[in-house]
Amino acid sequence: MKQSLHILHLEDSDFDAELIEATLGSEGISAEISRAQTRSEFEQAITSSEPDLILADCSLPSFDGMTALEIAKRKCPEVPFIFVSGSLGEEVAIETLKSGATDYVLKHRLSRLAPAVRRALNEVEQRAERWKLEAQLRHAQKMESVGTLAGGVAHDFNNLLTAIVGNAQLALARITTDSAAREHLQEIEKSGLRAADLTRQLLIFSRKQKIEPKIIVLNETIRAFMKMLRRIIGEDIEVDFSECAEMPPVLADPGQIEQVVMNLAVNARDAMASGGKLTIQTNVLSIDEEQSRARGWSRAGRYICLSVTDEGVGMDDQVQSRIFEPFFTTKGEGRGTGLGLAVVYGIVNQHEGMIEVQSRLGQGTTFYIYLPVQEEEVQKPDRRIKAELRGGQETILVAEDEELLRKLAKEILEGLGYRVLLAADGEEALKIFNAHSPDIQLVMLDIVMPKLGGRATYDSMRAAGCRVPVIFMTGYSAEMARNKMQQDLGEGFIQKPYSVQTLGQKVREVLDASPTYRAKSSSEFRALSSE
Ligand code: ADP
Ligand code: MG
Repeated sequence: MKQSLHILHLEDSDFDAELIEATLGSEGISAEISRAQTRSEFEQAITSSEPDLILADCSLPSFDGMTALEIAKRKCPEVPFIFVSGSLGEEVAIETLKSGATDYVLKHRLSRLAPAVRRALNEVEQRAERWKLEAQLRHAQKMESVGTLAGGVAHDFNNLLTAIVGNAQLALARITTDSAAREHLQEIEKSGLRAADLTRQLLIFSRKQKIEPKIIVLNETIRAFMKMLRRIIGEDIEVDFSECAEMPPVLADPGQIEQVVMNLAVNARDAMASGGKLTIQTNVLSIDEEQSRARGWSRAGRYICLSVTDEGVGMDDQVQSRIFEPFFTTKGEGRGTGLGLAVVYGIVNQHEGMIEVQSRLGQGTTFYIYLPVQEEEVQKPDRRIKAELRGGQETILVAEDEELLRKLAKEILEGLGYRVLLAADGEEALKIFNAHSPDIQLVMLDIVMPKLGGRATYDSMRAAGCRVPVIFMTGYSAEMARNKMQQDLGEGFIQKPYSVQTLGQKVREVLDASPTYRAKSSSEFRALSSE
């Protein structure tokens, strides 16, 4: 029950009013009670400030309870309305309930009053909680569908951008240094990379971007990032990092956490055009089952809370309800992309965390990010060694259904000296593999392909005893598929759009890491070629 309860009491008798107040008081219901005796007083009272509860006598000299009920239902339909009346026949009582009264209590049976009030207030509270959870669910569903849409578009874009950037890079490598076309090609490459960065953000939002979580101590990650952050934020704003003393580990991708802090900080800076203070804070808190349910969270337990507070312009409810949508921005053309918070949302979601916002117009804003504490010890994944861009003479089988990307991969790899065999789908890949297996040292499989997908192709190859290393290519990888593949198979992964650099590096890295596996004999693979 709320601390200070505000009751509006429609009652003409001073004696009854006092009695009712005393009854509530003796039952432990402390309330601030405003009296109304006439219609105008009643109307004035509910318009000036909405009460938590209305108590009303049935008949007054110049007014009546039923009309008061009508007015209340019109002006504040959510506020419970209880009749407290001297005499109320059964029929009238039923009539009042039908008209929307919450309850009725007879003045000579005031012992019923406190329980009736408690029940009414309880119902209001439960209704509000239900409404809040429903609103959260609706919001989550909306974000989910926007995410699916954005992810789908970004995925197709990625393929196109890979082809655009890759071809620009290949052309750049081919033309002479003084060619007039150089500048144009560099422009294409640059814009292509910028576009790739935008689609990358969309993919993060729709949780289609790989994260590479490891055990981190959040304070350390943020502390290391502060210098860079201060530079980005500029001198007009004082940046303060207040660390909590005890910091349990979390499983998180440090790069993504930096991205979260940066996006929030940049927004805070934008909100404080004439300077101010930006406070980043960490805390640990325990959420029990009940709190977790009330907040609509999926799990109870310990969380690390990372908050970013500014003293800026703040947001009204309207803006607050849309901030996580991709492309929602209140900043002018060319100033905001509307992707900053969408990215934050995506990252936090992928870390199984939560976000809350508190903001008041003209006062400032705080974003709270909650990340689940990693309670069990987990082995740190070992670091991967980076290989520089070197080519080789190995033979590589590439299965990719997009013709543009197939051609691009071939150009890049042949440019690095490799021999390349191409397949347009998984079935074709198996056929080619079957025919050339002793010569193939690496297989690259697109995950989504017609006829036979990358994973199925891979499984068939492995089932037949082939140990050649495999790199999966993916526009995005659903979290589960990715985890499964990486953990089970320890295979290489390359995310589209890839540059000449990343593809070349990855291929060399995987080839160098693998002992030269050979297929035992090509006849073994006869069995797996598809009918
Ligand atoms: P962008 O910054 O490109 O507009 P974001 O997704 O980062 O996109 O933010 C979306 C919108 O949310 C902003 O345009 C702004 O209206 C609002 N917003 C975000 N952070 C704050 C903040 N700290 N104070 C006030 N408004 C904010
Ligand atoms: Mg922003």
